[in-house]
Amino acid sequence: MNDKSTKKVIIVGAGLVGSLWAIYLAKRGYQIDVYERRGDMRASGYAGGRSINLAMSTRGWNALQKAGIAEQLQKEALPMPGRMMHSIQGELTFQPYGKDGQAIYSVSRGGLNRALLELADAKDNINFHFHEKCTHLDAQTCDVTFENDLNATTQTVNADLIFATDGSYSAIRNTLQKQPRFNYSQQYLEYGYKELTILPTADGEYAMDPNALHIWPRGTYMMIALPNPDKSFTCTLFMPYEGENGFENLKEEADIKAFFESKFPDSLPLMPDYVAEYIQNPTPALVTVKCHPWSYQRKVLLLGDAAHAIVPFYGQGMNCGFEDCTVLDQMVDDCGEDWDKAIAQFDATRYKDSNAVADLALRNFIEMRDLVGDPKFLLRQKIAAYLQQQYPNDFLPLYSQVTFSFIPYSTALREGLAQDELFEQILAIPNIENDWTVDAVHQIFKNWLVTKAA
Ligand code: FAD
Repeated sequence: MNDKSTKKVIIVGAGLVGSLWAIYLAKRGYQIDVYERRGDMRASGYAGGRSINLAMSTRGWNALQKAGIAEQLQKEALPMPGRMMHSIQGELTFQPYGKDGQAIYSVSRGGLNRALLELADAKDNINFHFHEKCTHLDAQTCDVTFENDLNATTQTVNADLIFATDGSYSAIRNTLQKQPRFNYSQQYLEYGYKELTILPTADGEYAMDPNALHIWPRGTYMMIALPNPDKSFTCTLFMPYEGENGFENLKEEADIKAFFESKFPDSLPLMPDYVAEYIQNPTPALVTVKCHPWSYQRKVLLLGDAAHAIVPFYGQGMNCGFEDCTVLDQMVDDCGEDWDKAIAQFDATRYKDSNAVADLALRNFIEMRDLVGDPKFLLRQKIAAYLQQQYPNDFLPLYSQVTFSFIPYSTALREGLAQDELFEQILAIPNIENDWTVDAVHQIFKNWLVTKAA
């Protein structure tokens, strides 16, 4: 399959990853047909109804840059150089995410998807087909069947390469699941989420500092808020479905009010519609999907959430899906555009990183909802920043590895576990909270480096 002139490609799903991947393939000169279940969101508006904004970090920006489209998307992105914690008493504490103002960026999910569609549609060799729901992949022929929900017709198509970017409930993956030796696991969190809005002030300004990701950590649950360009914030309340502080027990207006008044008092004056929004908005579930292999007959390949859905607590789902594009694209180059080889290589390696980021995301949930308000955790952050400054070549905090670097997620996870051991020793030093520049810290660190290298 090396002849460009005959290479026909199908992409199933015109979400974030599918639209970006189409742009990557278009640069190679292929003929690409993208089939999307929904209508064209440029005409109908974003109907996803989920997480109105997203945090974009280095891996995501890199993928957009390689596609040559970062600059125009950056204009609308809002930098968040740290997290702003809100205590129940309304005290605010700012923690920088990295050094020297490194930031993650709040981007509109619908805006980003629309922009990607626009940029892809401007290419002569990409055709979009909307209202086409993939229902089936024929395991023998690799024919893909689509049902059109406007005229109730069905069509079957085939191509040299078929990419499934149809999200966490992928129809293509569904077919692959029925193949022998296909590994699959799906795990729902006991938590759901609810989106709420903080409106701009009466004079049209942000009601809180827009240069931060706001967190109300409350132990077993939490609320976060990311700024939007229209000066509002989108808040997301993550809470268990069951239990005392759970969605199932919080349905009546009086209970909702009492809950918010006691748990998030500082946010209430900023969210005049919270009760109505709480009642009207859905409570979607959060799922982790791991599967392997991602390829079938070296012709069909899962990418993005279709291959690896993760919970959103590291803000990495889209970033990881975008990085799929850069990693695969590089492998295609390295293999001289021999897709059989590139797909085999990608399939054999990339899942280790998506499995790792899935685990990191679950781990970060505990950090966000609980530890960010914990003095011991805050002390660890300060010591980590000190070590980074003292040993810039030997120490990079886990958060920075995941968010501000291209270090493979699997390496970052390994390193994170090793850092846990390091801090266990350092935090046991007497009086460490008052002075973390003492010799004992340096000694423990140097020993740790030696052990790690052994
Ligand atoms: P999707 O965006 O789900 O796109 C799939 C597309 O396929 C859709 O357009 C869909 O309509 C289409 N489709 C589905 N089925 C079919 C079918 N049968 N036939 C044809 N088309 C089909 N990630 C981050 O990096 N940072 C964040 O801050 C972040 N926050 C999040 C917050 C929440 C609450 C959630 C739920 C997720 C968050 N994510 C975040 C994850 C991110 O949303 C996903 O990883 C990302 O959207 C995956 O992109 P995708 O293109 O693979 O899938």
